Amino acid sequence: MSSELSYVQPTANSPWGTYLSQVDRVVPYLGGLAKWAETLKRPKRALIVDVPIEMDNGTIAHFEGYRVQHNLSRGPGKGGIRFHPDVNLEEVMALSAWMTVKTAAVNLPYGGAKGGIRVDPKKLSLNELEKVTRRYTSEIGIIIGPHTDIPAPDVNTNAQIMAWMMDTYSMNVGGTATGVVTGKPLHLGGSLGRVKATGRGVFVTGREAARRLGLDLRGARVAVQGFGNVGSVAAELFAEAGARIVAVQDHSGTVVNQNGLDLATLVPHARDNNGVASFKEADRIDDEAFWSLPCDILIPAALEGQITSERAKTLQAKLVLEGANGPTVPTADDILSERGVLVVPDVICNAGGVTVSYFEWVQDFSSFFWDEDEINVRLDRIMMNALNEIWDTADKHKITLRTATFAVACERILMARKERGLYP
Ligand code: NAD
Repeated sequence: MSSELSYVQPTANSPWGTYLSQVDRVVPYLGGLAKWAETLKRPKRALIVDVPIEMDNGTIAHFEGYRVQHNLSRGPGKGGIRFHPDVNLEEVMALSAWMTVKTAAVNLPYGGAKGGIRVDPKKLSLNELEKVTRRYTSEIGIIIGPHTDIPAPDVNTNAQIMAWMMDTYSMNVGGTATGVVTGKPLHLGGSLGRVKATGRGVFVTGREAARRLGLDLRGARVAVQGFGNVGSVAAELFAEAGARIVAVQDHSGTVVNQNGLDLATLVPHARDNNGVASFKEADRIDDEAFWSLPCDILIPAALEGQITSERAKTLQAKLVLEGANGPTVPTADDILSERGVLVVPDVICNAGGVTVSYFEWVQDFSSFFWDEDEINVRLDRIMMNALNEIWDTADKHKITLRTATFAVACERILMARKERGLYP
């Protein structure tokens, strides 16, 4: 049976093409459930919406918005909202599919979804940003809801945008519905620990992987691409554990300091100066040189498709921790595996965010909020249990951690599919 869809034409290394290749690799390990594998290659539902707003100068601008629900066999859809000029249907499909795998890998009672608007938010005023967010939320309001599909922040979206989304949805349904989105401000049903959760998960899985490799974190050299929510928090936690953050790259450029960058000054500098490039206590290097820098741990925490075959050949790290979604293309994955570089894949490495989003959603329903220690203890336990199970699966079948994560997750997803049966 062909799994070609008429509405996207993926290439081998494009996001959906990457995801399809990851599914193909896991099918041999699914036993009788392989019969249901085609369901993983077809999003359940994809909504494309027009988002028109009146700009501050009185003109009318139209933006393209998406919400894709990839698979809802295990529960309501869950996945972030991205505001970026390159957002397109294929990318949102892949990101939604990785959410299906991720929520199953850490055994949360969710399916996978993702959304986004094709817009450069840096070119909008705050007023225009609010209008885009509210109109988009209203347009996708026909498929989202606390029991059906729960968005969260992703690239270029934050707690304020989640507050506008929650308010817009609540106005439309006629009652405050805090559970419709996660990643909200604390006083609007947000959860302690959510802002740092993804970076914390990257650190917890990375620390365990390093331990198993015999790599001492004290003095370990770490390079980070992407210095936003995920990358900066992960960097801070590695630095606290004694590692040296020797390089940071973001959209503005790449800075290095082999003695270790001072994060206490770099983090506020990046926030206040639109990126790291102008940071003085470091050397500026060419962006491409980032990929062959001497380091022990590499954390891609920006966008998809960053570790290409060429970069995989020169990369010097022993350990790659995928904070971003889909940063490694399949051909590069093979090269890293042949070179003995261990990759902790996105679908487990960055699952900390959705795990604390789950805690937030549970707290919203019970209107009873936990303290931060309780959240972090529960988060660390879920991440460690999931990673250990994945590691055992990888050892048993002699497969990469990525294929092992897909094996654990896809078994749960397809078992749910099988047990529910096909409707009608
Ligand atoms: P963010 O918007 O806070 O930060 C993104 C960072 O990437 C910024 O530092 C930006 O400068 C950098 N960047 C953008 N384009 C770049 C380029 N071409 N080269 C180098 N750097 C570039 O976003 P975030 O929430 O930190 O998300 C980063 C990644 O982590 C994304 O892949 C996202 O899907 C993934 N992720 C995020 C969460 C979360 O909870 N926020 C959870 C899971 C996965």
